[in-house]
This record gives sequence, structure tokens and C-alpha cells, in this order.
Amino acid sequence: MSPDRYRNRMPAFDLRTVILMSSVMPGLMSLVMFSLSRGFPTNIRGVGHWASGALIVSVSAIMLALRGGIADWLSFLVANVGMILGTGLWLIGSQLFFGRRPSRRFIALLLIVGIIAMSWTTWVQPSAAGRTLWMSLILTLTYGTHCVVMLRLGRGSNTALFVGSMLLVQAAVTAARVVTMFTPSWANAGLFSADLFQKIYLTTSALMSLTVTVGLLFAAMDRLRNQLEQQSFMDPLTGLLNRRAFLSAHQQEREKTMRAGGLLSLMLIDLDHFKHVNDTYGHATGDRILTDFARRVADMLPEHGHFARWGGEEFAVLLPRAQPDEAREQAEIIRRRVERKEDQSLPGYTCSIGVACMAAADATIEQLARDADEALYGAKRGGRNCVRISDHVILL
Ligand code: GH3
Ligand code: MG
Ligand code: MG
Repeated sequence: MSPDRYRNRMPAFDLRTVILMSSVMPGLMSLVMFSLSRGFPTNIRGVGHWASGALIVSVSAIMLALRGGIADWLSFLVANVGMILGTGLWLIGSQLFFGRRPSRRFIALLLIVGIIAMSWTTWVQPSAAGRTLWMSLILTLTYGTHCVVMLRLGRGSNTALFVGSMLLVQAAVTAARVVTMFTPSWANAGLFSADLFQKIYLTTSALMSLTVTVGLLFAAMDRLRNQLEQQSFMDPLTGLLNRRAFLSAHQQEREKTMRAGGLLSLMLIDLDHFKHVNDTYGHATGDRILTDFARRVADMLPEHGHFARWGGEEFAVLLPRAQPDEAREQAEIIRRRVERKEDQSLPGYTCSIGVACMAAADATIEQLARDADEALYGAKRGGRNCVRISDHVILL
């Protein structure tokens, strides 16, 4: 089929309207992003940059679409430089989002080159081809770099993969536009005749801007969801599981162990004379001891153990399928490690441990906790810095 016939079969659509419509959308999305980002925790960075970028890309694309109907300096200079700024802000936003240093200088350089190139090709030596060439070169750089950032730093996230792929398409089309300008034979063969490629380019740009904006919005929401999810099961001071997460871990382990038929062990660990530690060294040092304790104990627990802050200076360890002797031995290892002073900037401290161990069928959290607590009370009465195992285990 000849290119001309092919072209005649293309459905007729008004390019300007398509561009205009799809350019408005990122602008609307940016408003959603702005309002969301205001309520975001401060450690989720870059969303404000994404929103500003989307707004600027949107306004610039509208100005491009209105070419002929608005002043030349707006549609040639401001619109094109706006595209560079907007896509640059997207890149900076993503770098901030992934905790990297933003390439502000790189974007500033591209902006300066853009301003000079657009002014030159508009007023000094007017050339539509020159403008296209410079803009395509610069945008290939912003999209290309952004694509690499997304695919590299966002590994493992589907939204990052999606945005990265969209940016890859966008960068490829912009780069192809540069190549087609230097390959007259392509245009002659009609494969990429000037206006067909222009249509492809403009339509892709407009649609990609929209999908990238939506993708970025999803990336921000994903991060927020993950963070809230994590907060809901994590103790903020020590980073351990909180009691709620521990209860659910117990529930799962109990069901699993009941099916296989085995024992569940619970240790309750309480730091000794902690009130006195706080009174003597201050609450901040008390907090550092709690973190130090959590880190050291977490380091030596077996992979299948669950470790949580039970509340205050009390901690809980669940050991599935451990025999009473193993649980007692594990508790003893913890106690000995804790009494050893490792961080010289902290005062030494000790802990007492109560251990309960029973068949999974009997091991409701209430029963385990009651027995472990009794044993812990025994350890405190026995002089602290020691391990006691609940009598209940002997009745098994
Ligand atoms: P015992 O050896 O009998 O356990 O004595 P204790 O002083 O440790 O026991 P008590 O339960 O009377 O005191 C616990 C103290 O732990 C009181 C409280 O101020 C302190 N505490 C609880 N949570 C925190 C915390 O998050 N940070 C700090 N620094 N202290 C805490
Ligand atoms: Mg206590
Ligand atoms: Mg205590």
C-alpha cells in the first residue's frame, strides 16, 4: 500500500483539539497532586515538584496547541521553555522521591540552552526546523534521564516500571524525531513524512504527559500506602513489631503449628530497674537503651522468631516449634548478651525473662502471656537478671 493511500485511510481527527484536550488533563491532575501532597508526610519528597511539573507541562502544551492564535513569544519561547522546565521538575521530583540528589544544575543548563536556542531560531535566524531540533534534543535528555532514574531506582515497583516505560516511549519518539530530521530519505520514502511524524510526535507527547502524570500520582499514593501499612505494625522507637502485629503473627503461627502438631513458646522480657535508669540518666538515654536492646536481641534471634515491643520496657518473643529447653536456652543467650556492656556510651543494663511453652492447641495468646508473665514475676522476685520458665510446661 502506498503511503498516500495509507494516509487517506487514516481516520480524520483534528490534531489541535486532541492536543488541547489531552494537555488540559495533566493540569487537572496536578491540582489533585497538589492537594494530596499537602497532607503527605514530609518524608515523602518530590510530589510537589511532580505537581508543579505537570501544571507547567500542561500550560505549555496548551500554549503550543494555540500556536497562531496567541503571541509568537508565548507559543515559541515560553511554551517550549515551559516544556523543559516542566519535564525537568518531573525529573527532580523523582530524584527527591527516591532520596537522590536532584540534578538542578543540569536542568538549569538545559533551560539556558533552551532559552537561547528558542530566541535564536525565532528572532535571529527564524527556523522551524531549528526549533524542533533543539527542543527534541533537550527533551530527549530530560525524558531519557528521567526514564533511567525511574527504572533504576524504582526497581520492584510496578508504578515506577509503568512510568519508566512511558518515559522510554516518550524519549524514543523525541529521539526519533531528531533522527528523522537528519534522514531525508525517510521523509522521501514517505514512511515518516514530515506531517505524519509530526502527528505521531505531538499525539504521543500529549498522551504520554497524561499517563506520566497519572503514573506519578499512583507512585505517590503507593508510597503513602506502604508507609501507612508499615506504621500500622511497627513500633516507632525501636522499629520492632508493635503489639497488634505481634498478635496477628501469633495467630498465624498458632494455626500453622496446630496443623503440624507442635509447641509454641513465648518469652516476656522486662528491663530491670528501668525507672531507676530513667531517673539517673534521663529519659533520652532510656530511649537509647530500648533501641540498643531491640537491635541486639533482633540480631541473635532465629529467622522464624517474632520479636515485638510489648509495651514500655517490656518485649515479647514468639518462638514457634521450639522445645522448652530450646526456648529456655534462647532466653538465657539473650540475657547473657544483654548484661554484657557493648556500647560504651550507654550505662550497663540487665533484663529478666519469663518463658511459657505449650502445645499450640492450648497456646492462646492470653494463656501464653499469663504463664510467661507469672514466670517473669518469678524472675523479678528471684533477684532479676535471670530466666524463669513457667511451671505449666512441666504439666504438658
Ligand atoms: P523492674 O525491674 O521491677 O521491672 O523495675 P522497673 O523500674 O523497670 O519497672 P516499672 O514498671 O516500675 O518501670 C518501668 C519504667 O519504664 C517506667 C517508665 O518510665 C519506663 N518507660 C516505659 N516506656 C518507656 C519509654 O518509651 N522510654 C523510656 N525512656 N522509658 C520508658
Ligand atoms: Mg515493666
Ligand atoms: Mg522493668
